[in-house]
Amino acid sequence: MAAQASAPPGPRALATEAVHAGRDDLAGLGLHAAPIDLSTTYPSYDTRGEAARIDAFAADGALDDGPPVYARLANPTVARFETALARLEGTQSAVAFASGMAALTAVLLARGAAGLRHVVAVRPLYGCSDHLLTAGLLGSEVTWVDPAGIADAIRPDTGLVLVESPANPTLAELDLRAVAKDCGTVPLLADNTFATPVLQRPAESGARLVLHSATKYLGGHGDVLGGVVACDEEFARRLRQVRFATGGVLHPLAGYLLLRGLSTLPVRVRAASANAAELARRLATDPRVRRVHYPRLGGAMVAFEVHGDPHAVTAGVRLITPAVSLGSVDTLIQHPASISHRVVDAADRRSSGVSDSLLRLSAGLEDVDDLWQDLDRALGPRPSRSDVPAAAPRVSAAPTAPAAGRTAVAS
Ligand SMILES: *Cc1c(COP(=O)(O)O)cnc(C)c1O
Repeated sequence: MAAQASAPPGPRALATEAVHAGRDDLAGLGLHAAPIDLSTTYPSYDTRGEAARIDAFAADGALDDGPPVYARLANPTVARFETALARLEGTQSAVAFASGMAALTAVLLARGAAGLRHVVAVRPLYGCSDHLLTAGLLGSEVTWVDPAGIADAIRPDTGLVLVESPANPTLAELDLRAVAKDCGTVPLLADNTFATPVLQRPAESGARLVLHSATKYLGGHGDVLGGVVACDEEFARRLRQVRFATGGVLHPLAGYLLLRGLSTLPVRVRAASANAAELARRLATDPRVRRVHYPRLGGAMVAFEVHGDPHAVTAGVRLITPAVSLGSVDTLIQHPASISHRVVDAADRRSSGVSDSLLRLSAGLEDVDDLWQDLDRALGPRPSRSDVPAAAPRVSAAPTAPAAGRTAVAS
């Protein structure tokens, strides 16, 4: 029922997968661009046959190659995006959802349905992921731990360990391989939204579930909302059953846009990362900046703490857009304590390194000197020599850094 695109001939490099995965059948169909199938329903002349297919899906979430009975079950355009993302993350399967939060919701519901309601999680996480767990909206119970505390926090009813690396918004990094080891048989979910498979493939380090807010780098142009979980086929079947029953499907047009976004993902991530690294370097020697966070892994996100008023910086940018979200072709800046992480309790926010002076910048593809000029003006006047605090640390690790090492750039 999923109409997955045919499997590729053999191993291919990431850049090749980005433009070919999920499209391998197109030439045979006499097509070049992927078709968009907007059908909500599909003709079913063989009703007995459909009954058997529905039974099979209900029993174990299996989908065959026939047309979907109904669009909440599957969609061929969305299936192309899923196939492509799975290839990029190096997993058997991927299941797409209406948003990143819908994807996380489906994972929590799938574990809860198995009687495994307890979640172990490491802060910081994206603000709404933190909120979803803390508020217990889906009946889950969360234990927040430092990375070193994961193994001890696992209980018989633990269904999931949830981490982000680099984390939103501090860019704190974890040793995913070590974390996966500490999880034992409990599935590790790594939110890979910030790194993308271009910089990091968490499944290779032992994460059973790799989650993306596809809204960010995968779409890449700030015009499509989506989410996806890359995983083994066994877990994917559970997720498809949850998606069918709860309805958080990705629209086919969004599936098309995400597939198109993937084709430029490696190029965009590398170019935006070069801009981010250069901005991090300039911020690190700037007397108006208290501290810069830039991942060892690289990437297109930079976080920094200012000595002055962070609200004045977001109010002062002109080329850069002061807006939440990230991963677009243009540069965005936002104040996590006011926006992306506002829903997190202030004390929890601060203790996980999200200080009130922290700004989070998502570097785009503009010329880096134009970006710097805008940021430089928005940071306000440079202090006179006598105002500069003596020996201010310009760049350092996030405060909750584990021994494995988090954020740092050479100053
Ligand atoms: C944005 C974001 C999410 C949520 O994704 P939506 O598509 O906005 O629902 C989850 N995780 C991270 C790291 C994010 O940045």
